[in-house]
Amino acid sequence: ARIVDPGGDEDERRLEVALRPKRLADFPGQPRVRDQLGLLLEAARRRQRPPDHVLLSGPPGLGKTSLAMIIAAELEQPIRITSGPAIQHAGDLAAILSSLAEGEVLFLDEIHRMARPAEEMLYLAMEDFRVDVVVGKGPGATAIPLELPPFTVVGATTRAGLLPAPLRDRFGFTGHLDFYATADLAAILTRNATLLRIDSTAQGIDEIAGRSRGTPRIANRLLRRVRDYAQVHGKDVVDLGAARAALALFDVDESGLDRLDRAVLDALCRRFGGGPVGLSTLAVAVGEEPDTVETVAEPYLVREGYLVRTPRGRAASALAWKHLGLTAPATAVG
Ligand code: ATP
Repeated sequence: ARIVDPGGDEDERRLEVALRPKRLADFPGQPRVRDQLGLLLEAARRRQRPPDHVLLSGPPGLGKTSLAMIIAAELEQPIRITSGPAIQHAGDLAAILSSLAEGEVLFLDEIHRMARPAEEMLYLAMEDFRVDVVVGKGPGATAIPLELPPFTVVGATTRAGLLPAPLRDRFGFTGHLDFYATADLAAILTRNATLLRIDSTAQGIDEIAGRSRGTPRIANRLLRRVRDYAQVHGKDVVDLGAARAALALFDVDESGLDRLDRAVLDALCRRFGGGPVGLSTLAVAVGEEPDTVETVAEPYLVREGYLVRTPRGRAASALAWKHLGLTAPATAVG
């Protein structure tokens, strides 16, 4: 896996548990979502009723799971955690829903990947706090309604656009998480360095934060690698020198681009004169599958304005030329 992959595997998620902020007040960044959620939770507390269902959308690694846990902690309620891919049959969901306690928080990660029949059951449960349990098969089948105590669904998705409108409409509040400012990432890293008992300097932390692509999960991972580097080199402090040397070793440049990102830009500029060039041609030039270029490298390059998608293919922006230390042709966009 790439060191700048915003997703994490099981092992990494286990490491992350200790680093998750526990309360809203400890959650740096995302000021809008934090303030909006704070209001929603406070109002629910005063009314002594569960809040509206909450949908959190945004790219991986920005803190959706952490926020779901914070919501439960702020409401002083237990949380049940499951995910869309784990719910393949309506029965899987019925079993979970029928065992929820009053006020409990049900976290549904990757909610856009839930099976269709389960989705329909979820609409009803979210709206009317009811599930219809179907008994029997064929024409003789009967639906027995089962009342549920009020609860709160927190759904998380990287692709809000993929959610069917009826499901999206059942969420009273949608919070969209955005990439973090470098200063917020530095605050997160400073706190985490303390939690992990890592000695650090402000410059070392800033250097890591600036290369973390606005994503706390990547920042945490880079911090661990820089700590490894510092320890192996007998320094035991995450300072500017250790951060620069370790990140050079792992091929993450000053802008957070890795080898694949740079290879894509390099091919675009040097081999195709800046493009536009078709995705599959570009992929062959960097020795990757088109899907890898499109889903792994492109999103960040497009977001940061290095690469532009045009109807005639991919094109390098003036920023891409500059990043490679090349002179942009007058026709380069941006
Ligand atoms: P995914 O969609 O891949 O599950 P996610 O959006 O749910 O990702 P989390 O699992 O909540 O993200 O966060 C990933 C890591 O980043 C965790 O270690 C978490 O502690 C850290 N993190 C995320 N946001 C923050 C934040 N605002 N403050 C501190 N740490 C954060």
